[in-house]
Amino acid sequence: MSRRLVILDRDGVINRDSDAFIKSPDEWEALPGSLEAIGMLSAAGFDVAVATNQSGIGRKLLDRPALEAIHDKMRREARTHGGDIGKIEYCPHHPDDQCDCRKPEPGLLLRLSRSYGVPLENVPIIGDSLRDIEAARAVGGRPILVLTGNGEKTAGELDEREVEVYADLRAAVIGLTQGAEQS
Ligand SMILES: [Mg+2]
Ligand SMILES: [Zn+2]
Repeated sequence: MSRRLVILDRDGVINRDSDAFIKSPDEWEALPGSLEAIGMLSAAGFDVAVATNQSGIGRKLLDRPALEAIHDKMRREARTHGGDIGKIEYCPHHPDDQCDCRKPEPGLLLRLSRSYGVPLENVPIIGDSLRDIEAARAVGGRPILVLTGNGEKTAGELDEREVEVYADLRAAVIGLTQGAEQS
């Protein structure tokens, strides 16, 4: 069986989001069940990648080594639940930079597609914000909304008949892994 790719947003999906930005490993706190969910994905044979806007770098609130330290903590904590987080692509730019990677732009997703050598058609792309859903749609992926983080607000902005919605990452992963067994 070939491995399947799943792409996760970070803030509001894996960890608590903060209006003040996550600037240090101490400020990074997993959402309930999210690490277990990543463990379930790894156990089910998914490659787990992360695509995340981190404009805190462009805003000079943290630097790249601090972001790497945060991601080291995230990987370590996922590993304690059997989860293996693969590539993490992030956009470091300020929203005013007009880059091609800050979601809803598709740049991060396209980079992951290239590095895994996997087309994004029907790849589950899980996020809590409208820009995650828009980026997923732009690349022909399978957008999945979770109601953690900005998710409740996002649900109000979307036609829920057009997007899969789950309470949180754990619920989404249960939906995905059961679907994988059936296909
Ligand atoms: Mg988010
Ligand atoms: Zn960017």
